[in-house]
Amino acid sequence: MKNYQIVLIPGDGIGPEVTAAVCKVLAAAEAPVEWIERQAGITALAAGQEVLPQQTLEAIEHYKVALKGPCTTPVGEGFTSVNVQLRKRLNLYAAVRPIRSLDGVPTRFGGLDLIIIRENTEGLYSGVENQVTDDVVMSMKVATRTACLRIAHWAFRFATRRQRRRITVFHKANILKMTDGLFLRCARRVHQHEYPNIAYQETIIDAGCMKLVQDPTQFDVLLLENLYGDVVSDLCAGLVGGLGVVPGANFGDEEAVFEAVHGSAPDLAGKGFANPLALLMSAVMMLNHLADIREDETCHAVAERIKAAYNQTLQDGKKTRDLGGDLDTEAFTNAVIERLR
Ligand code: NAD
Repeated sequence: MKNYQIVLIPGDGIGPEVTAAVCKVLAAAEAPVEWIERQAGITALAAGQEVLPQQTLEAIEHYKVALKGPCTTPVGEGFTSVNVQLRKRLNLYAAVRPIRSLDGVPTRFGGLDLIIIRENTEGLYSGVENQVTDDVVMSMKVATRTACLRIAHWAFRFATRRQRRRITVFHKANILKMTDGLFLRCARRVHQHEYPNIAYQETIIDAGCMKLVQDPTQFDVLLLENLYGDVVSDLCAGLVGGLGVVPGANFGDEEAVFEAVHGSAPDLAGKGFANPLALLMSAVMMLNHLADIREDETCHAVAERIKAAYNQTLQDGKKTRDLGGDLDTEAFTNAVIERLR
């Protein structure tokens, strides 16, 4: 059987713990992957490398697909986020985060199946900040027609392929008339000219957040610029059980990097309690992506087996602490492996 070479970035904090757990499950499921390990983040710095080493970027450019643990970013000082650098350097412009209810994880709203699509390269993540005077600073929100059209095309193409019903853009174009206004105009144009098959809606983000916590099932696919996508992803994670159960993927035209929505959780690092499920779900997305791009049904079959195993594990009440259970990372990982059919 052919093995696909995939770049593995363990990352920082709980990253190495959850990536090890995921590799163990994929090995037990006989996933056709061979890991090419590369470093990024504090771990890379500690090893005397750059925070985002050139060889890590080159490996992703070469192998095209990566599975990444979270990387720590210093707050209010220090280096630029590794995650942001990686997305920009590789032009991974579309982040996709499926928000789905899980049978074994009871929450206020059942049956939720929502997809978040986040523009990943600009907005307030432009990194353009100025010190105007000692007491005045500025951060620049950047929107370009190219990137706004690109993410709109990506979102409508995705929605069409996945047979989704409707795209809702969350925005603040009543205040940010130029940047969010451009984002909206591009989404409208792509909808009207190319994808009338998908229903289209616009909601001012503050009201949208209220609607999400009142009844998230009224939404299908959400399309957001960078910062709104970041914040709303965590809000939506809370609707289905927390950051331990929300996977993600960052797509460019060539490369794809799969990573959970959660960060490096320094409060949990080294304790062995982190939930590896969000990264395991990201690995399932990765296997389905491999099935698509390599036209290899084996990858899809392995993804389905892993998905069935973690669903059964949760239904059997075997959960980590963040989901109200009492298992540690290792016990949960073993419980998933025991349920692989
Ligand atoms: P976080 O997602 O790391 O943690 C938020 C809360 O969720 C914490 O209480 C944490 O314990 C809990 N949590 C997160 N993942 C969990 C898991 N798998 N199992 C159980 N509980 C989990 O967010 P934060 O604390 O705001 O950020 C910590 C660091 O991570 C920061 O340096 C931030 O910049 C970085 N970060 C990285 C990424 C990424 O690599 N893509 C994403 C978000 C944050």
